[in-house]
Amino acid sequence: MEVIQAKTAGFCMGVSLALNKLDDELKKGEHSGRIVTLGSIIHNPQVIEKYAQQGVIQASDISELQPGDRVLIRAHGIPHDKEQALKKLGVTIIDATCPKVKRAQLGIARMFADGQTLLLFGEADHPEVRGLLSYAGPGSMVFNNLEEFCCLRLINDTTYFLAAQTTQDIIQYDKIIAYAEKKLGYKPVALNTVCSATRKRMQGTLELAEKTDIVVVMGGYDSGNTRRLAEAVKAAGKRVLHVETPQEINPDVFSPGDKVGLTAGASTPNFLIEAAFALLQKL
Ligand code: SF4
Repeated sequence: MEVIQAKTAGFCMGVSLALNKLDDELKKGEHSGRIVTLGSIIHNPQVIEKYAQQGVIQASDISELQPGDRVLIRAHGIPHDKEQALKKLGVTIIDATCPKVKRAQLGIARMFADGQTLLLFGEADHPEVRGLLSYAGPGSMVFNNLEEFCCLRLINDTTYFLAAQTTQDIIQYDKIIAYAEKKLGYKPVALNTVCSATRKRMQGTLELAEKTDIVVVMGGYDSGNTRRLAEAVKAAGKRVLHVETPQEINPDVFSPGDKVGLTAGASTPNFLIEAAFALLQKL
């Protein structure tokens, strides 16, 4: 089959930086203390398994940590109060918060200091969103789409500003910004927090959908940015196959003569993308 791969697919800068930091810690050896990640290092089960086999422990809460641990804060970042609590625990902190997430956290903190209240476009239960919210004040609200934004019950005499989770759909965010003036009665500050890696992957995927009959999207089922790529292909009217591994690619979904696109989320490793590309070519 003819297979076209998106120009930008797979690991983003933030994920690569975090994994490089983890690799550096592994090189120091076990005598330097346990290596613990707070939550899964990235939303990709194959990569998590690889590190688990090398002895990396995954903790879901700071209560699971021991003095002497080397604790890696993943690219999503953590809430401000948890970071403060970590500093008192006698652990070594390896901060792998993506610089773009850090920039969003600090931008939100600056707006809060200016007396403004956050309206955040994001998934309420996502770790990055919990972290971003911790830099804003009381009264902040989270919404997941334009419909939810329309229904928010705002408080009079409050000045709101907008921000988005770094991996949110930029087209949706632009629509929300355009509608916000109508809802609020003034033009709010809208922080530019959707990262360039997200924009490039979305743009590349939409271009791919235009040129092909079906698009294979590779990435963790837990990965929000991967899911959004798959949703964008569907919304563009093209068939989509979201898989975590090449083994999950079902040959029956393809029709003779199909032109196939291949893209991947920001937490999908290259070896999986390459294996999927080779497999698709052989079909
Ligand atoms: S998607 Fe963007 S913000 Fe998130 S880790 Fe990657 S580069 Fe950083």
